[in-house]
Amino acid sequence: MILTIKTTRQTELIDITSEVQEKVGAAGISDGFCFIFVPHTTAAVTINESADSSVKSDILTILNQVVPWEAGYRHLEGNSPAHIKSSLIGASEWVAVENGKLALGTWQGIFFCEFDGPRTRKVHIRFF
Ligand code: ZN
Repeated sequence: MILTIKTTRQTELIDITSEVQEKVGAAGISDGFCFIFVPHTTAAVTINESADSSVKSDILTILNQVVPWEAGYRHLEGNSPAHIKSSLIGASEWVAVENGKLALGTWQGIFFCEFDGPRTRKVHIRFF
């Protein structure tokens, strides 16, 4: 299964928890694992607090400080910081599925991470 996401900023975190949960329902999975994979070199996926949206803005603020847009990078495409952030955060996550629901903690959400937008992105979702 594939989710298509249209991002609107150069860097942003987008909560995709409800979209992934819909795929769990569509697949009819009761118990198992959900594997979420981002097939892009300048994007990522992470699990973190979804209750307070200031957490995602803090994550982006610090990532942008740690990996600044200008730092004498050699990659000619000019988007090395996006590649670096993608590797720091990672391209995949696993979430347990119990009784047809993602077994996330109370405060957890699944976030697609855009680091070189805006673009149209894909997220692959598989069940095991
Ligand atoms: Zn590049």
